[in-house]
Amino acid sequence: MAVGAVAAAAVGASLTDAPGASAEDGQRIRPRSDWDFDGWAKQVDSVARGERTHFVVHWQGPKSNWFKDLFKEDEIKNGPGAPKQMHKLAKEDDGPGIEYSFVITQHGEIWEGRGFDLLAGAVEKFNTPSISVQIHIRKGETPSKNAMKALEWLYFESNRVLSRSKDGSQIKKALQITGHKDHFGTECPGPDLEDWVNNDGPRLEGEAQADFAAPPFEGGTTVEPYPGEQAFRIGKSDPAVVTLDKALIKKGYTKHNDGNGYQAGETFTESTRLNVRDFQLAQGWTGSGADGYPGPKTWDKLVN
Ligand SMILES: [Zn+2]
Repeated sequence: MAVGAVAAAAVGASLTDAPGASAEDGQRIRPRSDWDFDGWAKQVDSVARGERTHFVVHWQGPKSNWFKDLFKEDEIKNGPGAPKQMHKLAKEDDGPGIEYSFVITQHGEIWEGRGFDLLAGAVEKFNTPSISVQIHIRKGETPSKNAMKALEWLYFESNRVLSRSKDGSQIKKALQITGHKDHFGTECPGPDLEDWVNNDGPRLEGEAQADFAAPPFEGGTTVEPYPGEQAFRIGKSDPAVVTLDKALIKKGYTKHNDGNGYQAGETFTESTRLNVRDFQLAQGWTGSGADGYPGPKTWDKLVN
């Protein structure tokens, strides 16, 4: 089995499929079609999911040329005026359209801009790794509780969606939370959001990382796929036996040996089998679960 397939299966156990599918407390992502998206003026590239590493926070800030209110105030505060307006102004500015991955309004609505799979245009020279999220506040405005709640939800949703393989690509660790100014000389995202990045960011990253912690993601190490039972026949050699032996040594199951200590080697010996058996018995397994021949369960527990 390919490494990617193992990883996808493990993530699938705790995470569900479609973007927005885990909506709770009424949170969901409103797709571009919900705000009368009329297409990109220029081509926008896709980004493979596995290339994303950062969740970058923005405000609308002091950009005075973007303060033309094309929609009623409430439409801008609650959408869909916010994404529509930014999309229109970005096109007038000769860009492809709305530059952020998502926009969150003061009412806590989450509007899709470039989404999870398209290249955003919001962080200079750092767009490929970034999911860029704008809280739609201007300089001097404080983000609402609803907006912050939506931001937190979107952070976990981003990890959940991006950890689902698409075209064989997915993230394997939690996204790092940063503000625009951590990447470029700018005031963005302003003092309130900067506080959130610095004070809440590390805690949220830890919580998200815990979702990745179940095997085979433990410790963020590379997963060793189970080589198959044919790799473990008494007297036969296989490179997987070296991996197995190293794991036995690391975990201290080396009682059975040829009198010269237990060393890693390619041959599966009777000593190897008896040491594996000790490990299996220590798990409380009995019968064929403790025959000394590593199956997928023994392999995952011992090696991964
Ligand atoms: Zn910004």
